[in-house]
Amino acid sequence: MKQNFNYHTHTARCGHASGEDEQYILSAIKAGYKQLGMSDHRPYKGIPAPRDRMNWEQLQGYLDSMHYLKEKYSDQIDIKIGLESEFIPESVEETVRLRKRVDYFILGQHSKEPEILVDYCFDCSAEDLEYYISDIEQGLDSGMYLYLAHPEYFMIGQPTFNEKCVEAAHRLAAKCAATGIPMEINLKGISFGKRDYGNGMLYPYPHRPFWEIVSQYPVKCIYGWDAHTPEFLQRQDLIEKAEKELQGLNLQFVKEPLF
Ligand SMILES: [Zn+2]
Ligand SMILES: [Zn+2]
Repeated sequence: MKQNFNYHTHTARCGHASGEDEQYILSAIKAGYKQLGMSDHRPYKGIPAPRDRMNWEQLQGYLDSMHYLKEKYSDQIDIKIGLESEFIPESVEETVRLRKRVDYFILGQHSKEPEILVDYCFDCSAEDLEYYISDIEQGLDSGMYLYLAHPEYFMIGQPTFNEKCVEAAHRLAAKCAATGIPMEINLKGISFGKRDYGNGMLYPYPHRPFWEIVSQYPVKCIYGWDAHTPEFLQRQDLIEKAEKELQGLNLQFVKEPLF
């Protein structure tokens, strides 16, 4: 299977991606995408995190650059202008206002507070994971998000797919099924490589035990490159690797652009 649209693309503003904005667009055109969604990590007003996301002061420049490129390449590719955003209850008013300035949001839940006191990519506790699940559930109910990005993000840090991880898979799949919001199979996780989780060599994501549970629910699945370099958009081979990893599971895929 191929997918010629992608809603998960970053820019150098987030502090851990590289390349000029225009290089991302040119790479996507070269790779044959018909739609490219730009979704850099959103800022929080007055709370800088230079290695994790753009500053509030960079937001307007990001939007201006994306609008310019959307227009410039409109005859070659359909560019959507978005952001990757957590759903943090204490910041919800700012988030609602920010949502109105872009075409779409993807829900990437990296932390429960804008200051990122606990990043879920570390070995976080069951109590932390409870925040992860319940904040995402509220986010999906908010109607602000196009899809749920890397739903098993926490597997980067978890030593094993424990009981709370099982619960996360069930609750997030049930919520995505109920709301009709697609779940992302994140292709960047494959580039991290496999490691021993105590039950075999697995990727952090797509993490097969997680998707075995998701496959029991009527959830729509979509691939997301989560590109942090322009070249990463060329990696259609990652879909083959994901397919191999998830072989035999009854997953339903989004076949057309979402909007
Ligand atoms: Zn990132
Ligand atoms: Zn991302």
